[in-house]
Amino acid sequence: MTKKYDIAIIGAGAAGLTAAFTAAGFSKKTVLIDRNLPGGECTWSGCIPSKSLINIAKEVHHAKKYSPELKVDTSEVLKDIQKVIQKVYAGESPEVLRESGIDFLNAYATFTGPNTLEVDGETIEAKKIILSTGSTPLVPPIDGLREVDYLTNESIFKLESFPKTMTILGAGPIGVEMSQALNRLGVKVTLVEKSDRILSNDDEELALMIQQRLVEEGVTIHAGAAAVKAAQQGSQIELTVEKDGKEMTISNEGLLVALGRQANVSGYNLETAGVEYDKKRIQVDEHMETTAKGIYAIGDVVGPYQLSHMANAQGITATQNAILPINRKMNYDNVTWCTYTDPELGHSGLSEAQAREQHGDSIRVYEQDYADIDRANTKQGSIGKVKIVLDKKGHILGASILGDRAGEIISQIQTLKTLSINMGKLSSVIHPYPTYSEVLVKIGKKVYVDNLLNQPVVKTFNKAKAGELPVKKIGLYGAAAATGFGIANMAIQNNTKPQLGVENGRLTEVPSTPNAVSSQTTVRSKFVPAWPYNGSKEQAKKNLIGMLKSYEGIRIAQVNNDYVYAIASSKLLKFKDDIEFYFNDAAQQIEFRSASRVGYSDQGVNRKRYNEMKKRYSSISTHTRNS
Ligand SMILES: Cc1cc2nc3c(=O)[nH]c(=O)nc-3n(C[C@H](O)[C@H](O)[C@H](O)COP(=O)(O)OP(=O)(O)OC[C@H]3O[C@@H](n4cnc5c(N)ncnc54)[C@H](O)[C@@H]3O)c2cc1C
Repeated sequence: MTKKYDIAIIGAGAAGLTAAFTAAGFSKKTVLIDRNLPGGECTWSGCIPSKSLINIAKEVHHAKKYSPELKVDTSEVLKDIQKVIQKVYAGESPEVLRESGIDFLNAYATFTGPNTLEVDGETIEAKKIILSTGSTPLVPPIDGLREVDYLTNESIFKLESFPKTMTILGAGPIGVEMSQALNRLGVKVTLVEKSDRILSNDDEELALMIQQRLVEEGVTIHAGAAAVKAAQQGSQIELTVEKDGKEMTISNEGLLVALGRQANVSGYNLETAGVEYDKKRIQVDEHMETTAKGIYAIGDVVGPYQLSHMANAQGITATQNAILPINRKMNYDNVTWCTYTDPELGHSGLSEAQAREQHGDSIRVYEQDYADIDRANTKQGSIGKVKIVLDKKGHILGASILGDRAGEIISQIQTLKTLSINMGKLSSVIHPYPTYSEVLVKIGKKVYVDNLLNQPVVKTFNKAKAGELPVKKIGLYGAAAATGFGIANMAIQNNTKPQLGVENGRLTEVPSTPNAVSSQTTVRSKFVPAWPYNGSKEQAKKNLIGMLKSYEGIRIAQVNNDYVYAIASSKLLKFKDDIEFYFNDAAQQIEFRSASRVGYSDQGVNRKRYNEMKKRYSSISTHTRNS
């Protein structure tokens, strides 16, 4: 008998589960097939057991600081890890799947045609098929390796207890996380890596900081060392490595192979369905569709990033493309990952080198040490550093964060990046104190100021300041340049509203800023004459307001019985000048006061404005008198 479905999914790991829930969410008749229980590598032998181990190891490590004699029974640790696995599995069990409208078949699936599968002797026919068959640990053809009792992520968490000594082959994220965690639990670890450093896909400086931390904690690291031979010697496994042209032998009770993943592409007749693949991946287009129409592939079997959250993202894209009349592209611009060492190493988007390759030297790179963050300083021995790469306008291209909670902080970067929010905007977001996330606010403030500095007018100003412009061209901002003040500093100060208004029939004291002018000052260089109005104060006020309205960039902020207040601002620079008028009815004159919030922002702009305004006002008032 043939069972018919809208969607059949092979593989119930992170990718397949997401695809199944998405399809069922759209009320499609969905079958999910796996030769094992649902959950895949992430639940049973990847993310979940490894993060559980890391949590336990971290607690032990901190406890050991105050109880150095502490000994750990690793059989108990392994039992706890199994409990954690079961808890996660409970949320994706066949019963839960059934409740969500998904048929789960615990069997091996093989293609018998382009849209038919053989599952446990039965035929499944589906309109669309999604392949999420995952990957298995890569075990390279090293002499003697297959004959020794080596471990992989699939076997290590099923042990009764951990060996007392362990060689870990491969210093990618899995090898590095496992090295630190096992070492903290009392296993004597030797880490062997062919490259000249650990975590070769991550920022070199930050990865070397972790490498240093591992060495300090007691892990022996042989970088630049290639494994050439393995041999079982009783309970010990001897691994021969070649380093600097010399051979050496490392002998330990356990050998964990963490050399990467191999896509599961064989054994289920992909050829019959017309799905092309090589030994690294199933071939897909940007919509996650394989070379066979209506068959999609997602997750580790496709890559390029073998990570659960990338598998989820691919799962949603592929399923929507399979069942809806749309064709969404899978976008890898916002790739992110985290290595859960202590401290963590998070990454988002492009590395600095990739960003430079794509955007040239216009990129902006910001760095901030955790040492400047109070929260980090509340913990002894804390290390950390943030590196953020921005485009010339201040949008995030990529970031790397080493430090406590980096996995959480990088998510804030992901939000800004995915939603195309300028990094400078973070400068005004209030964060709780003291938190690690404040590190981003610090960078946000620098970016805000630099965004300002990058504006064309400010650049002109800075050129003037550096003496790169001829005197004639210095213009409005030349005087400021001559004073040598920083424009950023000016901009920030310029947002502060000064004391304004009338007190006892007088405008408040003229400020000390060099370009301020006032009709009431006794300082000769700042004095400007008041304007007579002869007659109605109300008419004079009307004329004055009409005059102010004729200006672009001037906003009337306040009009009282005997007082008018206006603000002249430059949108580009965010500079503000305050202009006040006091109607001294006894003297029948309008008294004037104008001051820039920072005095060095202009070259006599307030006096120039006074002269210009006086001219405009008198032409209006002459006109009203004559008419
Ligand atoms: C130690 C370790 C730690 C990791 N930590 C993290 C982490 O912290 N964060 C992160 O994002 N990623 C992590 N990963 C990677 C992550 O586990 C994988 O990227 C993710 O699980 C891949 O999911 P998948 O659905 O593509 O494949 P899998 O989870 O491998 O699922 C594939 C499923 O397909 C089934 N299958 C295959 N062929 C057939 C067939 N013909 N018929 C029926 N069933 C079939 C298999 O039984 C399997 O259940 C870690 C990996 C390891 C090994």
